[in-house]
Parts: sequence; C-alpha cells; structure tokens
Amino acid sequence: MILYIKYNELIFIIFFFNLKNNYQSFFERVMMKQNLITLTITILTFIVLQSCSTVPLTGRSQLNMIPSSEMLSMSFQQYDQFLKENKLSTNQTEVNLVKNTGVKIQHAVERYMKENNLSDRLNGYKWEFNLVKDDQVNAWCMPGGKVVVYTGILPVTKDEAGLAVVMGHEIAHAIAEHGNERMSQQLLQQAGAVGLMVAMKEEPAQTQALWLSVYGVGTTVGIMLPYSRTQESEADHLGLIFMAMAGYDPHAAPEFWKRMAASKQGGQPPEFLSTHPSDQTRINDITSWIPEAMKYYKK
Ligand SMILES: [Zn+2]
Repeated sequence: MILYIKYNELIFIIFFFNLKNNYQSFFERVMMKQNLITLTITILTFIVLQSCSTVPLTGRSQLNMIPSSEMLSMSFQQYDQFLKENKLSTNQTEVNLVKNTGVKIQHAVERYMKENNLSDRLNGYKWEFNLVKDDQVNAWCMPGGKVVVYTGILPVTKDEAGLAVVMGHEIAHAIAEHGNERMSQQLLQQAGAVGLMVAMKEEPAQTQALWLSVYGVGTTVGIMLPYSRTQESEADHLGLIFMAMAGYDPHAAPEFWKRMAASKQGGQPPEFLSTHPSDQTRINDITSWIPEAMKYYKK
C-alpha cells in the first residue's frame, strides 16, 4: 500500500513520525517497534527507488535524494548571499566575456538537452554568470545555472576558449547533478534516509554548512568536499561536448588543463584541488573524447 503514496505525502509521513508533539506518544502506543523498523525499511527502499536518476551522456545511474525544488531554492538563496558578501569585478571587458561565454554555453546546453528529450531537467533554471574579484583560481556552478568565475582563474584560462573549458566543466557538474549526489551521500551517512528530509528542515545550519562545502563556496580550502574522480571525469566529458556545441574548438581543453597543471605551484583552489590524482590521466581522457566533440563542433 505504501508504494502508492506520492513522494510529497511520503515526506509528510516522515515528518509526522518525527514531530515532537502529542502525536508521538500516540504512535508510540500504537506502533510496535518492529512495525516501525519494517516501515522504515519500506520507506528507505521507496526513497532509493524514487531517487535513482541517470547522468546525461554517460548514462551512469546515480542516487539524488534531494528534490530538485529544494536544490534550486537553496541554490538561489546561497548564490544571492554569496554575491552580497563578495566583490564583483568592475572590469567591464572581463565581465562581458564571462557573461557572453556563459550564455553561449547555456544555449548549447539547452539545445543538447532538447535533442536528448531532457529539457525538463532544466525546469526552474535561472541562469546567471558573474565574475567575482578574488585571486583564487576557481569557478563553480550551483544548481539552476548559477555560475561564478573568480578573476584569479583568468590568467590560466588565457582566452575565451579557455574560459569556455572551465565554464563548460562547471556547468556540466550542475547538469549532471553532482552536488545533489554528494549531498545525498553525506546526509545518508549522517542521518540515514528517513532522517534526511528532517535534517534538511530542522537543521538548516548544518544543511547550509554541508551545501557550502559541497559547492566549495566557503573561503577555507580545507572544507571542500571533493567531487569524486567519476564526477570529475563526467564533467570533463560533458563539458567538452557543451563547449564544442557552443562553437569553441575542443582542442582548447587539454591545453587549458596543461596550463592548470603547470600553475599548480602555490596551492590549489577548492574546485580544482581535489580533482584527479593524475593530471596526465585527465588530459589523456579529454584528448580521447575530442573526435566525439568535434562532431558537435562542426554541426
Ligand atoms: Zn570539477
């Protein structure tokens, strides 16, 4: 019977069991402990089944347990907060470069998703591309297309195609919902599936801290929860296709990562800190995907 309950209703039931009010004692009397365990397992199975999704292009199955509406509302809130607390670049040429490159990749993503019947994954997106005045060699994209590029990365990106490599890669992380996957894994470890939604609602401070560490928005390098090697590789692959579709020669990608590797002396920024154990592996992989990307580039 429980399998016919809608997702929203299920969340309500989870909350219901966790409400610290009079109902709790009622349920304690009515429900045997054993029943509660069975129910918990059923709910857990249900959530897992409901939460399986597939990464575009690679087709990898992933577990994204946080509803996308939650992800988007957290994203928009945190993004605005970040913009308030950080200094935007006033170099109009560079600001425009970031915005124009971003919009080209946005259109490429929209086209790719449309061609693959995945447009609904972009529902609720509110694309935005900002250049922040900060020496960190960094960039990121939060869910819903909220992109930040740091001025510190511009010497490494060198030109528009180099910038497209970085923005394509970051946007690919968002499209592949890697943040949701990371948060789901962390919250599962911390709270278990049943406690997940409760943790998000009742412990906003912890959820926010986790969010900041997943997206590497915190200023301390140490708190970044790294993307996995699989996720990095997916972002490279998908990002390469997006940049090619946006009209940038994908050959710029291995060149960018070579410059990135060369600039490593002097400490790595959060997003690029974790990445790959071997820069050479990454560069080899990207090079092997160039023929595929060229098909999109020529279109
Ligand atoms: Zn990455």
